[in-house]
Amino acid sequence: EIVDFKQFFNRIIDRFELSKSQNVSFHRVLPEKQYFVEIDTDKLTQVIDNIISNALKYSPDGGNIRFGFTVKDTHMKVMVSDDGMGIPSANVERIFDRFYRVDRARARSMGGTGLGLAIAREMIEAHGGSIWVESEEGQGTTVFFTLEIEINEEGEWE
Ligand code: ATP
Ligand code: MG
Repeated sequence: EIVDFKQFFNRIIDRFELSKSQNVSFHRVLPEKQYFVEIDTDKLTQVIDNIISNALKYSPDGGNIRFGFTVKDTHMKVMVSDDGMGIPSANVERIFDRFYRVDRARARSMGGTGLGLAIAREMIEAHGGSIWVESEEGQGTTVFFTLEIEINEEGEWE
């Protein structure tokens, strides 16, 4: 399916913003222009749902979550950033492993299985993109992923 990524992304963010129970603010910095991507919308929805629910799960009361994407050549880079508890640098590499969760005791109380990011990586790679995380303990976490752009709003094939 070919979709306007900004519209697709906004709809998912809206759904979380309307239903969230936490006191966490959402901020969006999205390009003016439309960019179309060819994606499996169910799978990409699952990926973005997990990234946003992780950001909410690990955000403090009064926290902020930032949503953005930038475009370079034929790629877009999507980012979701929180100012939550972060991930110790020794563990960052492992969070894409199946069933891996940073802190067992803390993780147990948060629910979940530790599969979300493993599935996200599989799905993003199946779309020809990549996904990675930058995090600093106590400062916050940013999840990035890339997607190929099909066409921009001027109808130029990228
Ligand atoms: P599931 O997604 O299956 O419900 P989960 O959220 O624990 O469970 P993942 O989404 O794969 O699993 O995340 C793996 C681990 O990475 C989490 O348990 C958490 O320890 C850490 N993590 C992921 N996102 C963040 C974040 N935004 N801030 C802090 N830690 C995170
Ligand atoms: Mg998760």
